Amino acid sequence: MTEKPETLPTHDVAGRFAAPIDQSAHEPTHWEKEADAIRLLLADKKRQIFTTDESRRVQEALDAETYWKLPYYERWIHGFSSLLKEKGVLQEAALVTEEARLRAAGEDKVEDPPGGHHHHHHDHDHDHDHDHDHDDHPYQEDDDAGVAVLSPLQLRGRAVRNLLIARGILTAAEIRTQIEAMDSRGEHLGARVVVRAWTDPGFAARLAEDAGAAVEELGLSRGETVLTALFNTPDVHNLVVCTLCSCYPRSVLGRPPAWYKSRAYRARAVRDPRGVLAEFGTHLPEGTSIRVHDSNAELRYLVVPRRPAGTEGWDAAKLEQLVTRDAMIGVTEARQP
Ligand code: FE
Repeated sequence: MTEKPETLPTHDVAGRFAAPIDQSAHEPTHWEKEADAIRLLLADKKRQIFTTDESRRVQEALDAETYWKLPYYERWIHGFSSLLKEKGVLQEAALVTEEARLRAAGEDKVEDPPGGHHHHHHDHDHDHDHDHDHDDHPYQEDDDAGVAVLSPLQLRGRAVRNLLIARGILTAAEIRTQIEAMDSRGEHLGARVVVRAWTDPGFAARLAEDAGAAVEELGLSRGETVLTALFNTPDVHNLVVCTLCSCYPRSVLGRPPAWYKSRAYRARAVRDPRGVLAEFGTHLPEGTSIRVHDSNAELRYLVVPRRPAGTEGWDAAKLEQLVTRDAMIGVTEARQP
């Protein structure tokens, strides 16, 4: 039962979409990382300009076709720019003026992200039957100049950034630090938590009791939400999703992969978890039940996969190589030695 984007709700897609999950990945470009950072900074404890649920409300107010066509981070830019106006922090006229200035100054071009990763526009058939996140063609190319020009929402994101800095609401250094902090997080942090739980029963008990406090023991951040560790057993396998948007244990795993944010994953994880696992190459015994956990603005989950047999006596560094991001989301098990 695959529905067309025009008829799919923008919020709760649970069970409403049947396409395969596009697992292709791309390293976020600079404008995406910047949108990610600005969104988090505006909602942080220092500023508290809006909440995750408010950001969702604005995005979900888009018509369904627009919502599903927009690249993920353009939805975020739409979200925070709308909320900044709604709350009287920024005015439309000032944003339009700044966008005109950026265009006139030639600052409406795509910056090459660090690392020189470059995307090129390509034609897309939006009717093909696999899910598509629209993350792989995040800007248009100006054929005459051969230079990529920011899309209207990407340009708006840059205008918002400039005005927020000009008004002292956030600083360029804060944005840079936020991007670097998120860049530095990833499966290596979660793997430390999991391996510590595998090798230290006292830590495992504390992780089960209060995961936020337990990860802080390892010098990691608990984040601004409640973190819960889910321990896989021979009887129960845990799977994490955010059916509403993309909530993810960022403090220990960094930014979520594109497929985690896709409508196919959001819709199918709750209705057909066994089918989703099979697409990731995971085949559990029929007797193992799958428990699906729906993340939200307050609650984040980290799966503790089972320790593979044959790893007795391994040191932590070697064990950590077995613990992947996907295993901590629950779409796979730990790597077998
Ligand atoms: Fe979410």
